[in-house]
Amino acid sequence: MDVRALGYIGVHAADLGAWTTYAEAIGAMAVASPDDDRLLLKIDDRPYRVIVEQSTNGRGLAYAGWEFADQRALDRAVAELESAGFQVQSSSPAQRAQRRVAGLALTTDPSGFSLELFWGPILDHERFRPPHGGSGFVTGDLGLGHIVLGTPSGRAAVEFYTDVMGFRVSDYWRPGDAEVVFLHCNARHHSLALAPGGEPALYHFMFETRTLDDVGYALDRHDELGIPVSQGLGRHPNDEMVSFYSRSPSGFDVEIGYGGRLVDDATWTVTEITKPSLWGHHRAGEHASG
Ligand code: FE
Repeated sequence: MDVRALGYIGVHAADLGAWTTYAEAIGAMAVASPDDDRLLLKIDDRPYRVIVEQSTNGRGLAYAGWEFADQRALDRAVAELESAGFQVQSSSPAQRAQRRVAGLALTTDPSGFSLELFWGPILDHERFRPPHGGSGFVTGDLGLGHIVLGTPSGRAAVEFYTDVMGFRVSDYWRPGDAEVVFLHCNARHHSLALAPGGEPALYHFMFETRTLDDVGYALDRHDELGIPVSQGLGRHPNDEMVSFYSRSPSGFDVEIGYGGRLVDDATWTVTEITKPSLWGHHRAGEHASG
């Protein structure tokens, strides 16, 4: 199966108004969906990369949209999922219109996360205008960024994404007897990471800025708008991202980073990291020695 990229995600939110302000802090354009209770976050030439769904009973991830090249690639993916024993639902014209895609199939991963397999985003040709200036985000062939999911299903989840969905392992981190697996489907170091969790959860999603200054300006906007930073500036050893973590109105974090490493499958070898950050990423109130 040839997943090209993480095309879009949907997240649950109780308060769309809070997300309008929050979008400003992370540097995204917030566009009210004309026909329903949704907020679209635009960060590039796509009509949206995040759909914020009004929901009183859900927090976290509503769905992850994985992108395929064309109808044939999507048809092959559906056939492979079905032959591996996974149920796939076809989509209605209304669902495709809402997502603004040409083709869409729906399935569920072993942890219970809703996956939307799609091809053919329908473009709006509206320019991305960062609300506070800035240089924009690194997307294109690399997709929107990454998601880190907490999953109760452990190895079954990892095997689903590697053996069925065709992701490749980038590296591992094994704190204690837990295992965090970083997975790529294009040159972005990881589009998906799976971490142990009691309940299926979105731990964070990540947007990558084009300049280090844009990370700094985003930090300043958090200060100005009174939006909490859950982990301060730091650098990860595996994807080499310099980033901080912001607390979204939905309770999960958003990582804003710069300088992510690219993976070349022709030369890549899998390693195990032994700490999550080379430096920094300290939680509020935590000292460097703690
Ligand atoms: Fe991350």
